[in-house]
Amino acid sequence: MKGIRLGAAALEVSEIGFGGIPIIPLPQEEAVSVVRHCFDLGITFFDTANMYPTSEEKLGIALKSIRKNAVIATKTAQRDAKGAAEHLDLSLRQLQTDWIDLYQLHNVSNQEALDHVLAAGGAYEAVSKARDEGKIRFIGISSHSIATAMEAVKTGLFQTLQFPFNFIESDPANQLFPLAIQNQMGIIGMKPLGGGVLERADLCFRFLQGHSYVVPIPGIRAKKEADEIVELYRNPQPLSQVDLKEIENIRSALGEKFCHRCEYCMPCEQGVQISSVLMFPAAAKRLSREAVKGWIGKAMETVEQCVECGECAQKCPYNLPISDLLKENLALYNQYIRS
Ligand code: SF4
Ligand code: SF4
Repeated sequence: MKGIRLGAAALEVSEIGFGGIPIIPLPQEEAVSVVRHCFDLGITFFDTANMYPTSEEKLGIALKSIRKNAVIATKTAQRDAKGAAEHLDLSLRQLQTDWIDLYQLHNVSNQEALDHVLAAGGAYEAVSKARDEGKIRFIGISSHSIATAMEAVKTGLFQTLQFPFNFIESDPANQLFPLAIQNQMGIIGMKPLGGGVLERADLCFRFLQGHSYVVPIPGIRAKKEADEIVELYRNPQPLSQVDLKEIENIRSALGEKFCHRCEYCMPCEQGVQISSVLMFPAAAKRLSREAVKGWIGKAMETVEQCVECGECAQKCPYNLPISDLLKENLALYNQYIRS
């Protein structure tokens, strides 16, 4: 597998990485075996977060004996310095390591969150101190909002940007990624398979191979999946006219219902967890029933609080019929839980 340098950071990683969500429901031994298989195939970059239950622990066990040859990235969604410092220490313990190669501020997707993490006493202060102490090597940021990510990039404080990127979420390639490259940042592509919505892995990775400055981090839950992805990288093929037509068909089929998880619709004054509820179909495809319940069960309960005021739909840049989709997803979820 080819190596790639993440921006100006002295971080050499494999051209595809490993996303740590799908190992959550796997038994420990199986998860460890999948991670080691990926490493044996040449994947050296492993991304997780301490909000992904058990993922850090499993990666810690799998990578302990090969720690120096692996690049570990994790993240905190804490916004203040105290919370971020606690999370970082927890990650170090769970990952069984003395250092984290890339520590990211997680899902900074609106200006308020960005202002908070960068303010005095904010999370950035803690991670910057941890970098001085040698607990982390580089600082990155992840986001779902192009506008907020553009502002974060302009600060020059982050060495990497993690952002959703696939053939139905390709807008970042227009302005955001060029700006990040101009600022010498490495780019990590989350959700290369649309968060589980896109089933044609061949099309997804061929599209991504046309943007080789992005390091995708597919979630991998089985050795077979890793074999298939790595094979696509061993024999890269450009997108054919037939592929492009198929991509257009998929885009238009998903167009009216696909939630990009940008969270522009949030917050809802009634407390409805819109983007989590709309994530249900993708979660159901990727995770076990127990994991789906644990992950979005509480969010599903908030759908009943919707008063159909329509404010969220007005804020959605993709014009999604949100209140209809909430009801649709709740009905599907209830059916899924009962089946
Ligand atoms: S339509 Fe429902 S979910 Fe949307 S903002 Fe109004 S109450 Fe919240
Ligand atoms: S419903 Fe629309 S605004 Fe809300 S997260 Fe999804 S795509 Fe973004």
